[in-house]
Amino acid sequence: MYHLMELPTKVLIGDGVISKLGDFVKDSSGDKKVVISAGSNVAARVKDTVDAALGGSPVWVEVAVADMANVRKVMSAAEGSGCIIGVGGGKSVDVGKLAAFRLHLPFYSVPTSASHDGISSPFASLKGLDRPYSVMAKPPVGILADIGVIASAPRRLLAAGCGDLVSKLTAVKDWQLAHRVTGEYYGSYSASLALMSANVVIERSRTLGKFEMDGVRDLVEALISTGVAAGIAGSSRPCSGSEHLFSHYLDMVAPEAGLHGEKCGMGTIMMAKLHGIGWKRVRSALKNVGAPVEAAQIGIDDSKVIQSLVKASSIRPDRYTILSRKKLDRKAAASLAKSTGVI
Ligand SMILES: [Zn+2]
Repeated sequence: MYHLMELPTKVLIGDGVISKLGDFVKDSSGDKKVVISAGSNVAARVKDTVDAALGGSPVWVEVAVADMANVRKVMSAAEGSGCIIGVGGGKSVDVGKLAAFRLHLPFYSVPTSASHDGISSPFASLKGLDRPYSVMAKPPVGILADIGVIASAPRRLLAAGCGDLVSKLTAVKDWQLAHRVTGEYYGSYSASLALMSANVVIERSRTLGKFEMDGVRDLVEALISTGVAAGIAGSSRPCSGSEHLFSHYLDMVAPEAGLHGEKCGMGTIMMAKLHGIGWKRVRSALKNVGAPVEAAQIGIDDSKVIQSLVKASSIRPDRYTILSRKKLDRKAAASLAKSTGVI
């Protein structure tokens, strides 16, 4: 048994570091052009600073949707370039990451919010693929996280990042369960690393929820660390379990409702109950940071929650989780969602 660990080479984190982007990517860019995949809101917020930092004229590619059409758009712009930089929250990082992976180019992640762990992980989540969950790419070679920029992102995005972090509690439980039942590889080091990140939220939710500079820095470091945990595990196991399957199923039946981290956070409350771990602690931590704990808060009706609980494990039969074991029917799913206050 063996597996490959791929990890980011360098991380630059701090207030104002975006002005150092030019030096940060120099090893890869050299004299070649630099291509930036970015959302339009993001471009408006940081374009001048990024252009000045890169000291040339990087090619900006606007990414509105995380799908293959946008990946191809970035790939054609990146022909002959030195590297691709994903500047943004989620979509532009995912699109840039996959485009760079396919072109064998170095990829740099410059998160402008902290809503999920894709800022550092080797995975890209895209619409329109043959499966509704993330595809394996490579982790960014470098992550530049400007805490000043990230702290000024909408609170909702930061709270969603907390939702993606708490989900490691049940992801690790699912991984342990799978190891016992199927004999699948389990890495206790990467599992511990992922749990440590989840506990940043569970243990300090009140102070973290103010989203002051120190708290945002902890949030970002915890998210980077979970991506690294996935790199060490060589799979998404420490970061993504039954709560992510639930979230991915909701992506299909309620595509416009809620953010990834919000849906994962709610899933974690319910999966924690199934695992017999402290689901009330998860729920109150999410409330304390301002993340939704009821499906109605993000416009998802009860029947879709129930349907997702019943069907979620079918979208990835190779991934054994508590949902594979419990095989919830509609009645059991409704009772779980009601008893945890999700519906
Ligand atoms: Zn996630």
